[in-house]
Amino acid sequence: MVSIEEVAERNGLVLYPTSRPGQWKAHCPVCGDKGRDFHLYVSSVKDTFYCHKCGAKGGAVAFHAWLLGISFNEAKADLYPQGTHKRHRHPAERLTAAQLAELGFTTHKPWRMPKGVNPLEWRRQRKVMLDWVWEEWQAHQRFEREQTERLMQLLTNASQSPLEQSTGA
Ligand SMILES: [Zn+2]
Repeated sequence: MVSIEEVAERNGLVLYPTSRPGQWKAHCPVCGDKGRDFHLYVSSVKDTFYCHKCGAKGGAVAFHAWLLGISFNEAKADLYPQGTHKRHRHPAERLTAAQLAELGFTTHKPWRMPKGVNPLEWRRQRKVMLDWVWEEWQAHQRFEREQTERLMQLLTNASQSPLEQSTGA
């Protein structure tokens, strides 16, 4: 079992001790509380988390999903990889350099973490970025398909027209 403390550590979330043993406080990445203000409470006794402000709560797997902005099943697969199950990859991550170049990304993969960025913040942005790249790619493919269809239509019309003319005359 992956403990909730380990999930926090993996995601770069700092846990601060409270007066109660096994009870931690942290800054909620959603609410953006800072300094001495702590909204997020994590219990390593019950393996649960709860944010007093935004109301996010759950167990270790839900915590991992919430911090990464992925689904519960994806978080589960990531924490407990087994046998044939591969680590979940965003479909956009499977695009080749040539495919990315078609979309205009020529210098680097757009989801690589820039320097000096909060890793937790970045992971959320990365998901948004990947979704956007994937949508762009799908739109690009749709466009290509339409172009091809249009071209085929033109060619078909061009080869048919002499026939039509001869039958029409
Ligand atoms: Zn919150």
